[in-house]
Amino acid sequence: MEVSKLIATFKALKEIGFGEIYLPTEKERETEQKDKSLLLKELYKSLERERKCVMYESASGYVFGEGDPNSPVVFVGEAPGEEEDKLKRPFVGKAGQYLNKKLQKVGLEREKVYITNVVKSRPPGNRTPTIEEMASCLPYLRKEIEIIKPKVIVCLGSTAMKGILGKDYPITKYRGKTFPYPYDPKIKVFLTYHPAYVLRNPSADREFTEDLKAVIKLISEA
Ligand code: URA
Repeated sequence: MEVSKLIATFKALKEIGFGEIYLPTEKERETEQKDKSLLLKELYKSLERERKCVMYESASGYVFGEGDPNSPVVFVGEAPGEEEDKLKRPFVGKAGQYLNKKLQKVGLEREKVYITNVVKSRPPGNRTPTIEEMASCLPYLRKEIEIIKPKVIVCLGSTAMKGILGKDYPITKYRGKTFPYPYDPKIKVFLTYHPAYVLRNPSADREFTEDLKAVIKLISEA
C-alpha cells in the first residue's frame, strides 16, 4: 500500500474513534501460530477419543485437516476418498492433485492454505454423507474454523455448502457467490465447484479458475 493511502486510512480510523492500532510483533505471531497448531492437535485428539463424528466401518480412520493454521483461507471439501483414507491426508487423490495444480496456477500454494472436510472419515464407496452423518461432524469443523479464524472459507461443492451455510441446493445455483459465515459474520464464505466435479466437467475449469482468483481478491479485501 502507498504511504499516502496508509496515512489517509489512519486519519479516517482516527476520525471514527480509534486511538491506537495494535500490531502483533513477529514473536507474538509465532506464538499465535504455535497455539493454533496445538489447539488443532487437541481438537483432533478429542475427535479420535470421542468418536462422535461418524466413523464408517469400511474406513481406516479419521482424516484431519492440514495446512497452515495461520492461513487467511480454509478450503472445505465433502469427505475423504480412497487415497485420502489410505494416506490419512485430505485431498491427495485425483481431485486433490487437480486442486493443487489450480491453486499453484493462481499463486496460492497448497502448504500456505488450510484444507479440510465436513466429514472426517471415508463414506463407503465414496457415497455422499447423509445429513445426520454431516451433523455428527459439523461441531468439529466449526471448532477448526474457530481456531484458525480465516478471512475466507471456500466451500468446494454442495456438501460443504450445505454443512457451512445450511443451503441444500446444487452448487451450480450459488457458485461464485459470497455469504457471511453464520457463526462469525466477519468471515466470508465463498462457494465454488468441487474439484472432482470440474474433472468430470472440463467446461467448468475456466469458472473454477475465475473463482480461485476471486478468492484471492476476497483475501486481500478482508
Ligand atoms: N474429496 C473431498 O471432498 N475431500 C477429500 O479430501 C478428497 C476428495
